[in-house]
Amino acid sequence: MNFFIQQSELRDLYNKVVAGERITDADALRLFESKDLNALGAIADFVRAKKVGNRASYIINRYINYSNYCILSCQFCSFSRKKRDGDGFQLSIEEIVGKAREALKLGITELHIVGGLHPSLPFSHYTDMLKALKQLDARLQLKCFTAIEILHLAWLAKKSTEQTLIELKEAGLASLTGGGAEIFRKEVREKIARGKESAAEYLAVHRTWHQLGQRSTCTMLFGHVETLADRVDHLRQLRALQDETHGFTGFIALPYQPENNGIPVDHPPTGYDSLRTLAVSRIYLDNFDHITAYWVGLGLKLAQVALSYGADDLHGTIIEEHIFHMAGAGTPQGQTEAEMIKAIREAGRTPVQRNTFYEPIKFFENSAASDVPENTARSKVLEDNLATA
Ligand code: SF4
Repeated sequence: MNFFIQQSELRDLYNKVVAGERITDADALRLFESKDLNALGAIADFVRAKKVGNRASYIINRYINYSNYCILSCQFCSFSRKKRDGDGFQLSIEEIVGKAREALKLGITELHIVGGLHPSLPFSHYTDMLKALKQLDARLQLKCFTAIEILHLAWLAKKSTEQTLIELKEAGLASLTGGGAEIFRKEVREKIARGKESAAEYLAVHRTWHQLGQRSTCTMLFGHVETLADRVDHLRQLRALQDETHGFTGFIALPYQPENNGIPVDHPPTGYDSLRTLAVSRIYLDNFDHITAYWVGLGLKLAQVALSYGADDLHGTIIEEHIFHMAGAGTPQGQTEAEMIKAIREAGRTPVQRNTFYEPIKFFENSAASDVPENTARSKVLEDNLATA
């Protein structure tokens, strides 16, 4: 038994997890409230190792935000703009394809595309965008749209959510993103994202997508006005849907960024809070294979440490990120593949390049530095972004 567990008040929960028993909501709250981070991490690390062995993954991907014009005004959002603001943006399909073309030279396997709820673009614009990207390279995996965007597109198309998803799938959509879950409890949602979809609507979009045989990720935005019990409630609803559909590939805990929005928070998530949230998520979400440490919010150094606190994935190279950075994230805009491999190796894990569905593409089994690609995901835009970070 791990030294930290032997001495810990959490020893009974460790025994429960080792026996293969599912922890309860009360157990999860106890884990959150414990100050024994080392023991919590040891339990999470046990679960991680049982699930995925010694592997830790990353993806070579690129983010593209097609527009930040949005008809909603979620209080926590620093990204959205109205047309009258004068500093919003909107990319044409040609511009999006141009960014994708450049990123393909760097070996990306995925484009991650989200935006605001645009006030005037028709539904056909989105299917045309997907088709144009698939035409550029049929192998590209298009991970696009949050649940609220899907509801917006269904409204634009005047079709059911299911029919909208079918048509997006036919146009080339591979996976939904997990964004927009925030915190499910209604009272918290009212305070941070009034007007956005309810928890039930978020879950219904993902359920429908899963029932079509497709996969998605899910998220939780933590460290603002929610309580620890709210976090457990959020995880409970995700675990329940996963029991039903098994359609989630991974879970991503997003640390709240407090700048340039209507929810100023004196104490945004600390390193301690981030690690315990990832660890509890790993232990509680026993029906999820993958827990991602999102380096954009955590910083690569803390994300690397999180690989010993339940996480088994560092997300991607990203190249150009707007949403977290407009909310004050001080991390770089992107990472190189070499940097991600180095971080994983230093943490004692075997690096694995993965695709959108967390399936392995390439293993780096040995520790030879010579097999690490040199700056494979550095582009002109990333170089520029790193220089100004
Ligand atoms: S969080 Fe999304 S839906 Fe809400 S205002 Fe921002 S861009 Fe719009």
